[in-house]
Amino acid sequence: MKKAYRKKTLGDRVLKPETQMMGYGYDPKLSEGSLKPPIFMTSTFVFDSAQDGKEFFELAYGKREAKPNEESGLIYSRINNPDLEVLEDRLALWENADKALTFSSGMSAISTTLMAYLRPGDVIVYSAPIYGGSEYLIRNILPEYGVQSVEFESGFEEMTLAPALEQAKSKGRISVIYVETPANPTNGLVDLKECQRLADEIALQQEGHRPLVIADNTFLGPVWQKALECGADISVYSLTKYVAGHSDVVAGAVVGSAELMGPVAGFRTILGTMCDPHTGWLIMRSLETLKIRMERSADNARIIANYLRNHPKVESINYLEFLPEESLAREIFERQSESAGSTFSFDIKGGEAESFKVLDNLQIIKLAVSLGGTESLMEHPFSMTHSDVDDDVKRRLGIRNASLRLSVGIENVDDLIADIEQALDHI
Ligand SMILES: *Cc1c(COP(=O)(O)O)cnc(C)c1O
Repeated sequence: MKKAYRKKTLGDRVLKPETQMMGYGYDPKLSEGSLKPPIFMTSTFVFDSAQDGKEFFELAYGKREAKPNEESGLIYSRINNPDLEVLEDRLALWENADKALTFSSGMSAISTTLMAYLRPGDVIVYSAPIYGGSEYLIRNILPEYGVQSVEFESGFEEMTLAPALEQAKSKGRISVIYVETPANPTNGLVDLKECQRLADEIALQQEGHRPLVIADNTFLGPVWQKALECGADISVYSLTKYVAGHSDVVAGAVVGSAELMGPVAGFRTILGTMCDPHTGWLIMRSLETLKIRMERSADNARIIANYLRNHPKVESINYLEFLPEESLAREIFERQSESAGSTFSFDIKGGEAESFKVLDNLQIIKLAVSLGGTESLMEHPFSMTHSDVDDDVKRRLGIRNASLRLSVGIENVDDLIADIEQALDHI
């Protein structure tokens, strides 16, 4: 928003994002004193003068540099919109980044970013497992555009990342290292500092062409994990999950330096993958409670994980706080993340029949895919979210017929445990 209200400090104090979510980037004076940003349901914006229109376009299309303190003028809602500008300013604060861009879905954020940075002849190196849609894009669609891929396994990357990069070099120019950490549903971790170090090393071998480290930060970000501070160049998000947090919208975001966001914004304008103002407004509302929602669900998850760990019908559990002391994974977890978050999987004793019995007998927790909402959800990754992954790959990654994934919400934790207990009693 033009002449926006963007105060980051109070005296010497740098204000925290949770404080800023109620006001940053919005000047009530520009909207009749309205405390909250109105929803700007408009496709286009009226220029004060023809000269203004000309200058706005010059800046939007990169035909000239911005003058000191000049901000982009409002033109058309595929290019920019006040709700999205305020939302993007607020999202960027969580990762202390220059800029955020919002999209119609997590997948449109990811695909627009990869299109902006990959060209025929390039290779993308990615961690496995990753979100099914991202994997489909990388394995099935990008090759049609001349982009090859090589994968490595998260959680074992000290063994697999360097060989994957060696293999990638023989296939072409490495342009992107794409990772998801922690991975879904295994909670396998990728060391972002190591990715950054290897990207620098590859740059020397590729005449300065440095691969970008792009991290899908949906699971723990932006409250518990600042992927950019950990070593990523770009963070991508499905806002559908924790950030919007009420399982009622689909949206995505990309966060990074102004320089790296430029090409992504350009592709977004042309592909038309932006978020709409109403969704943007709903997510602004969500941002006001983001931290307390993530705190409460993480507290609930810790209690439930400890309960399941001691349950006689539970075989094992992939909860990050249970990583062995002194292990490399633990060191990465403690360096990169402030909390284990609230989505994890666990294996019960049995197979598909027993898993289904638990799911079919839940009474409070809903049987649904997705995660990060106020309500708790449980699903069977083997036959649902990861149904597309080869069975032997699933087994290697530890996704079994006995695995259940739980996204813990903000309900009363004793009610949730009572529900899990009665469902487990059915097997
Ligand atoms: C859901 C999800 C996506 C895709 O986001 P949509 O908003 O559904 O398009 C990408 N990455 C991760 C980790 C996800 O959980």
